[in-house]
Amino acid sequence: MSNSVVVHNSSFESFNLASPILKNIEALGYTQATPVQAQVIPAAMAGGDWLVSSQTGSGKTAAFLLPLLNQLFIANPHGSPVPGRAQPKVLVLCPTRELAQQVTADAINLARGIKGLRIATIMGGMPYGKQIQAIKGAGLVVATPGRLLDLFNTRAIRLDQVECLVVDEADRMLDLGFAEDLEAIDERCKQRSQTLMFSATFAPRIMSLASSLTKDAGRIELAHAGEAHANISQKLHWADNMAHKHRLLEHLLSDPDLDQAVVFASTQIESEKIADTLRANGYQASALHGAMPQAVRNRRLDALRKGQTRILVATDVAARGIDVPRISHVINFGLPMKPEDYTHRIGRTGRAGRNGIAITLAEHRDRVKIKAIERFTQQTMTAAEIVGLEPQNKPSFNKPNHRPGAGAKRGKPKFAGQARPGSNTRFSPRSGSRSGSFQNANSKH
Ligand code: AMP
Repeated sequence: MSNSVVVHNSSFESFNLASPILKNIEALGYTQATPVQAQVIPAAMAGGDWLVSSQTGSGKTAAFLLPLLNQLFIANPHGSPVPGRAQPKVLVLCPTRELAQQVTADAINLARGIKGLRIATIMGGMPYGKQIQAIKGAGLVVATPGRLLDLFNTRAIRLDQVECLVVDEADRMLDLGFAEDLEAIDERCKQRSQTLMFSATFAPRIMSLASSLTKDAGRIELAHAGEAHANISQKLHWADNMAHKHRLLEHLLSDPDLDQAVVFASTQIESEKIADTLRANGYQASALHGAMPQAVRNRRLDALRKGQTRILVATDVAARGIDVPRISHVINFGLPMKPEDYTHRIGRTGRAGRNGIAITLAEHRDRVKIKAIERFTQQTMTAAEIVGLEPQNKPSFNKPNHRPGAGAKRGKPKFAGQARPGSNTRFSPRSGSRSGSFQNANSKH
């Protein structure tokens, strides 16, 4: 985590977390809470519903896991054996399998050595039998919505004991068409006493989802998209055509400072083609996209984590949740569909205290999308050139010293359908918070 985003004097000791959890935090090397943690941990521990805007890479996962794991620990401090029923107390919903796996891995690390506290994952693409076994006796279940409802409908899991529901990356949930599934899950755990919802933005559609999933939710609004990536150097290269883009890509991948890279493609087919071309040219590259069987996705992500794959060529869906500290470069070969995806993509680098490099390749016809990204991030993408690979065709708006959004109409980005994120850090305490998130078992939803 970058030092620039760590709040001073936000030591984990000040949160009144149980000592086995503090020990695990220390073992992970976290010395201070990040801003999102400094705000969300005490708020969630005080109880009630919270709506949090935070960026990927900000430490948001531990921000919700720590108070919830703490609560589970307090409910069973001596680690008495738990009944082997599939009825979790904490349910975390993630939009993608990769994110669900990452959240599960973080939860396991933070709950290490705590007896009687079990964590399980439910997600599509994996055998049913094993998952059904794993959720028995698990206090915290991390799930993708579709498979969770499958298991609920076959009575393999009960949701009537859920005390806290977390909806992670709610914006992405809506992008992926999970609105109805969320509604169905909400109905099935109405008795819960707490809902925590995380999203990159508080766009109107997120607020409308929040109004159905949460009650009197307090808001915690952190840095806007542009501020969150101070440790990532962002550049833009104009390309004349596809062949030029490929030449630029190979040049960029030959950077001796490159440790591991994620190259983003616009489509599944494009991701496979790029990976094939790179492999044919001697690079250790593999593709990752949502149409691949889950077992293949897992193997490829694992190879990336272990450093066996240097270059992962991915689509947006598959890239969520990738948290590999050695990723030094993110290269946007194809532009994202929506400006906020740009922020998520570049957040794959510059993780765990390191610096990162994010390079975008764009053709002249992409200039509207580039402007929309600049408006969203409120940052200018500086155009750079490589000697011998200069573009013949440069859009005139992207001159040096160009101001963010200059030359572009104010208002909604054309292809985004999204409002700009707020630029202020705001913290609106909720009225009448309750004491202890799990204590009130009365229905409030
Ligand atoms: P997230 O935003 O939850 O995906 O977290 C981004 C990265 O920051 C992960 O690699 C976490 O392990 C790491 N991280 C989370 N909290 C802290 C902290 N307080 N100090 C240092 N690193 C952290």
